[in-house]
Amino acid sequence: MEENERRTCIVCGEPKEEGITIVTEFICTSCESEMVRTSAEEDKYPFFVRQLRQLWVRFHV
Ligand SMILES: [Zn+2]
Repeated sequence: MEENERRTCIVCGEPKEEGITIVTEFICTSCESEMVRTSAEEDKYPFFVRQLRQLWVRFHV
């Protein structure tokens, strides 16, 4: 089981144990829930979009 392994979150850059893996990239639970709560009007939203775009770009190349 790799559930207890620490992985580096692509959003906050912190090593975390809990989170989700999208393709090959890891997003920690706190960033994921923050992303879900963040609306498009908020300042943080472009930051999250940019982080995720890096992820998708890497995946599609
Ligand atoms: Zn994070």
